[in-house]
Amino acid sequence: MSDTILIIEDNEQNLYLMRFLLEKSGYAVADARNGEDGIRAAIDLEPSVILLDIQLPVMDGYAVARHLRKQPTLATTPIVAVTSYAMPGDREHAMAAGVTDYIEKPINPDLFVDQVRKHVEGDPRNAERTRSR
Ligand code: MN
Repeated sequence: MSDTILIIEDNEQNLYLMRFLLEKSGYAVADARNGEDGIRAAIDLEPSVILLDIQLPVMDGYAVARHLRKQPTLATTPIVAVTSYAMPGDREHAMAAGVTDYIEKPINPDLFVDQVRKHVEGDPRNAERTRSR
């Protein structure tokens, strides 16, 4: 497993913001603009967390999540859906597709890194927080 966070997102502005916030906090970031490239990147990189937009061209985020979960090396990788979908049942739909957690758009710059960090296994900043509780 690499320390990289993979962002699968077709919107340049959202991608820019997420990348900026994560890199500022010391994370390495890789990105893909569509599901097919995202699946390929996930297999190649084995990222520590995958951030997944749901509204993607061609293959939506649910389909991407199902594909990712079929890969033995990605079976337990945290997949965090990042989406403005707020229809009743969407959360359940995402969870059924294998998504681990859900971050709602618009991204809140004050909360975003913590929302991601809690899924990064072995992040020393998680351990510090646990100890200080
Ligand atoms: Mn999108």
